[in-house]
Amino acid sequence: MKNYEIYLDLDGVCIDFMASALEIQGYDPKTIFSKWKTTQPGELFPTLSIEKKPIEFFTDKALETENFWRELKAYKWFSYLYTELKSFGNVMFLSAPSGAPGCLSGKHHWLKDYFGASFSEYIFTKHKDRLAHEKAILIDDMAFNVSAFESRGGTAFLFPRVWNELHAIYEPTEYVLSNVKRLINE
Ligand SMILES: [Mg+2]
Repeated sequence: MKNYEIYLDLDGVCIDFMASALEIQGYDPKTIFSKWKTTQPGELFPTLSIEKKPIEFFTDKALETENFWRELKAYKWFSYLYTELKSFGNVMFLSAPSGAPGCLSGKHHWLKDYFGASFSEYIFTKHKDRLAHEKAILIDDMAFNVSAFESRGGTAFLFPRVWNELHAIYEPTEYVLSNVKRLINE
């Protein structure tokens, strides 16, 4: 049972990147999320609520600093999700750095701030699918990561968020945990 390797995405699963990315660019996350949910559920980017193009939004200078990434807030379910997953197998954080060097060091600091200086259970790469194998499980909020991981022979579960097809699922952690549990007990 312990021989599963569970790869856990950070942004959008454990950490609320989007709320801070909105806030630092002058948007009110609550307003944007509620409009996103009602007018464009499942869309990757809320084009009806944000006048910037996605590329402009995600490459804004404000998202390049180490501090931005280091100070992101964990979702309220983070500790519960991580603890439960650890009871099913080895858990490794798997996170893709953006193009900015500050992102990589900020994410590194975030994990050390949370778990302590000796913590080393993480892999930073954009190529998450390279880690797929028959005993590997990926939990990620991006459909393209899920499909790439599956096409290399891993199992992947999409983490429900307003920007993916599982937007209508109200309890994202219960959804994912019950799927992981089912797979492991098969
Ligand atoms: Mg993500």
